[in-house]
Amino acid sequence: MLGENIKKLGFGLMRLPKIGQEEDIEQTKQMVDIFMSKGFTYFDTAYVYDNGKSEIALKEAVVDRYPRDSFVCASKLPLWSTTSEEQLAGLAQESLDRAGVDYFDFYLVHCLGRELFDKAERLNVFPFMEKFKAEGKAKHIGFSFHDSAELLEEILQKHPEMEFVQLQINYKDWEDEVVQSRKCYEVARKYGKPIIIMEPVKGGSLVTMPDAVQNLFRSVQPDLSIASWAIRYAASLEGVMVVLSGMSNLDQLNDNVGYMENFQPLSEKEQETVAKAVDIINALPTIPCTACKYCVDGCPMSINIPGIFKAMNNYTVYNNLASAKKQYLEATKDGGKAGDCIQCGQCMEHCPQHIEIIETLQKAAEVFGE
Ligand code: SF4
Ligand code: SF4
Repeated sequence: MLGENIKKLGFGLMRLPKIGQEEDIEQTKQMVDIFMSKGFTYFDTAYVYDNGKSEIALKEAVVDRYPRDSFVCASKLPLWSTTSEEQLAGLAQESLDRAGVDYFDFYLVHCLGRELFDKAERLNVFPFMEKFKAEGKAKHIGFSFHDSAELLEEILQKHPEMEFVQLQINYKDWEDEVVQSRKCYEVARKYGKPIIIMEPVKGGSLVTMPDAVQNLFRSVQPDLSIASWAIRYAASLEGVMVVLSGMSNLDQLNDNVGYMENFQPLSEKEQETVAKAVDIINALPTIPCTACKYCVDGCPMSINIPGIFKAMNNYTVYNNLASAKKQYLEATKDGGKAGDCIQCGQCMEHCPQHIEIIETLQKAAEVFGE
């Protein structure tokens, strides 16, 4: 299978440590050094992550410091603001230049759903990807995906040249009708495509769990973190090439590499434990936001939508208004409040989770009083 020599934990460069608004490159370098010293090699970035600073961080923390054949890296072609076929080569070259590499090991069309797939067809993105590969600028081509299993099947039928897919899979959304983790996984398997898993911890949501869930996990594995269950669950699936974790500090990195260095798939008992945890979580009505931030850039009121949703979920899970309000105030200190939404609908076109953002912000404004 493609990528079978790659250790299953990938370093997602989407939520790097920061000092103020800037990437903490020194801490990132320390994280990279530990990651590489344990035999992990996969780094994932994208043109749009942190307005290009993520690709630059890849260059500074990895590319400039390690031989090119000692790691593999992936980046992604953005289609959101792309209006013509002629722009594609320039965008892809910009990614190569920022990352300081001659080629990406894995190059993806970013975030395909119905709308962007139709656009990709209009702009001849798939022939462009094949040409990019033929020129030696990508070893392997694929796409990341946020939509229904039906659309995934349509794309894979039309484009057998796509060698792999990147899917959002986590134990909470395995049977979810919107995210469709299981159904998408099964389509990818049917077409024999290796799978890269993104958002295994649901943007951190599967760490801040109710006490009942945390106690359940700890009763089975007292020494393992809550996050470990989500990442090991994803890595235990057949046909998975790598599981991405967007690591933001040394503690997260050390935790992840600890249990993934000598990865053991979940045992039958552990699988049963995860199923029980899902039953407990499903009884709670939380917002399925993964904090991808695709909704944020175009918001005319600069509303920190994922930050507000995180505070709302905190309130739902822990029922502690004071703590959730503190989190809400922190999330909105530099931008619009939930009640500032002018209902333009721009954000909803970009949400891969299809969240009713406007309605949910109205509820948040009621809960937090602003
Ligand atoms: S609908 Fe509200 S939150 Fe969404 S982009 Fe418009 S103003 Fe921002
Ligand atoms: S609301 Fe949707 S687009 Fe915005 S951060 Fe959450 S999941 Fe991403």
